[in-house]
Amino acid sequence: MSLIPAEQAFSQLQSTADFLALTLEQPDQLPAFEFHLANGTRIAVWHTGVLLAEPAVPGQQDIVLSSGIHGNETAPIEICNGILSDVLAQKLQLTERVLFLFGNPWAINAGVREIEDNLNRLFSGHHSKDDGLTSEGGLSKERARAKLLEESVLKFYQQAPAGERVRKLYDLHTAIRGSRFEKFAVYPFLHGKDWSQTELQFLKACDIDTFLLMQSPASTFSYFAAQSCQAHGFTLELGKVRPFGQNDLSRFSATDKALRALVSGQPLSLSAFVEAEFNFYEVRRAINKQTDAFRLCFEDAIENFTTFPVGTVLAQDEGVQYKVEVEGEAVIFPNPKVAIGQRAMLLVKPVSVAGKVS
Ligand SMILES: [Zn+2]
Repeated sequence: MSLIPAEQAFSQLQSTADFLALTLEQPDQLPAFEFHLANGTRIAVWHTGVLLAEPAVPGQQDIVLSSGIHGNETAPIEICNGILSDVLAQKLQLTERVLFLFGNPWAINAGVREIEDNLNRLFSGHHSKDDGLTSEGGLSKERARAKLLEESVLKFYQQAPAGERVRKLYDLHTAIRGSRFEKFAVYPFLHGKDWSQTELQFLKACDIDTFLLMQSPASTFSYFAAQSCQAHGFTLELGKVRPFGQNDLSRFSATDKALRALVSGQPLSLSAFVEAEFNFYEVRRAINKQTDAFRLCFEDAIENFTTFPVGTVLAQDEGVQYKVEVEGEAVIFPNPKVAIGQRAMLLVKPVSVAGKVS
């Protein structure tokens, strides 16, 4: 596909205020261009699906809003594009710098989770590990995209004004299956640092009160943000995957409202932190698919965070059975279709964060 001229992309974006549509029409690339809105906000398109919006006098937060890392997770894409469209149409005046990312335009167009590789397993440099090179020695679509997204986020944080800044990255997803807790967040491993009380309170305002506290490094976008950028990074799971137009956006109104308030400096009216109002889980075990014989031993339709009695066989692989080991151990993200060697399920348990939040 040939590159459209920057002037054409610019005039389309100005007339439609729809960066998602422009991205999906030009999934391979867009020319870089920038302009100012009449309200002083600078809009800089860096690439297809990568757009910086910066108010004339930026506040102290640098916020990345990412969606569409998995192409068929449409509700977050609609939420983020709605916020961005209102910024472009000057219905929403930003007070903070925001980097909007539509993660995987090819997969969004195809209505699938991924084209070749799971994009959310390719961050922190995993995109360029040797086993990922194509036969021509190049990177797959998702690997090239992961690299570009990392570079964009680093550039965004590095270009921030001087002084004390707060970096954030919210990577919005929906899960393949339903969940006992409709919305939850994956809080990446902080290498022993305390979990952020302010972030927990903010995400509660987004209607998210269940947190999976990770205990080891990962190749996800949110871990990259936390570890490589010292950002408050989260993977937000906002409900179940549905096609475009079939999302009940009223279920996401609290999230939408809180994100809009965050980027536009409106009061957030956060409630005091009370641990009993949250569900915290940590990972006990990650079960990786070892062979093609891997099978789940429960109904395919089970919800995330489902528990089973101790001793229940949850999955089997060649020569091995995985059973529930302790009371309360719950299953999340079961997916037998992953590639061999990848995570096919996580087993988590409830945990207290007393003394570990500040
Ligand atoms: Zn996802």
